Amino acid sequence: MTVLVLAAGLLAALPGISWRTGSGHPRTWALITSTSLLAAGFYVLVGLALLAAPVLLLAVGGTSLAQVCEVLMQHFEPGGLLTAWLATALLASGVAATAWRLIRSRRRRMTLRVPSYVGVHEPHDGFELITLPTETTLAYSVAGREPQVVIGRGLRARLDEGQLAAVVAHEHAHLRWHHQRWLDAIDASAGLLWFVPWTRRSARAARVALECWADRDAADVAGPCSLRGALLVAADAAPASHAVASLNGADALAQRIAMLDGDRGRRDLPALTLSVLAFTAVVATAGAVTAGPQLAALVSHLCPL
Ligand SMILES: [Zn+2]
Repeated sequence: MTVLVLAAGLLAALPGISWRTGSGHPRTWALITSTSLLAAGFYVLVGLALLAAPVLLLAVGGTSLAQVCEVLMQHFEPGGLLTAWLATALLASGVAATAWRLIRSRRRRMTLRVPSYVGVHEPHDGFELITLPTETTLAYSVAGREPQVVIGRGLRARLDEGQLAAVVAHEHAHLRWHHQRWLDAIDASAGLLWFVPWTRRSARAARVALECWADRDAADVAGPCSLRGALLVAADAAPASHAVASLNGADALAQRIAMLDGDRGRRDLPALTLSVLAFTAVVATAGAVTAGPQLAALVSHLCPL
């Protein structure tokens, strides 16, 4: 049963790697890739916790409780204590990696927020546009109670009026759609699933989908030509931390410019993609349903204790 939960989790992380720009609106893909990563993280967390239960209960409840759980698990799981210890190690390392990533992101965001005495601050509708006194090519946004859109003076000087509007609209889209929270969720899931080989690719696809989503909004505001020009000017942008949404320079530049061509990024998802997603959802649901009796059995045995 737990094997099915874990399989559902591993399968749920897959949809993101099938994304190509042009196959559906990037907002839809951002939703699919992020949700599938979150679902994968949840399923794997539950699956590993079930497998690790004998070891975890030994730690928190003593030998008698662990023995009850061990006997119970043998009805459902192969491998016994060896599997339990392996699951405990993966669970602990995944939780630690997630916690570390979230703490690191929070610290980096605090570093990237610009204090009032640095740079030129211009109030805009719902955010502050800040021009930093640096020739480094950078542009990013910092969400929070006082949202900021930050751009380097060197980059700003190289942009014409329309391109600057496109960059600001791109960063504003990140703020308006709360992409910071999406990035945190993607980062947390990627940490939890560090041992799943295709997670990194899915997480990257989710981040690129967020960029394309902001590009799509910016193109609607400033026009695709201005945005394309801004992306090319910013192609040497300093690689930004994953902790904040940014204009990521050459990262996925070809994909993003391709999306701006013609009508790409506006179409609905193709039938085949929808079929794959529906299949994944069914398998994931099956995993959850089959885990139900096991969870119920665990709870019914543990509650009296
Ligand atoms: Zn961006």
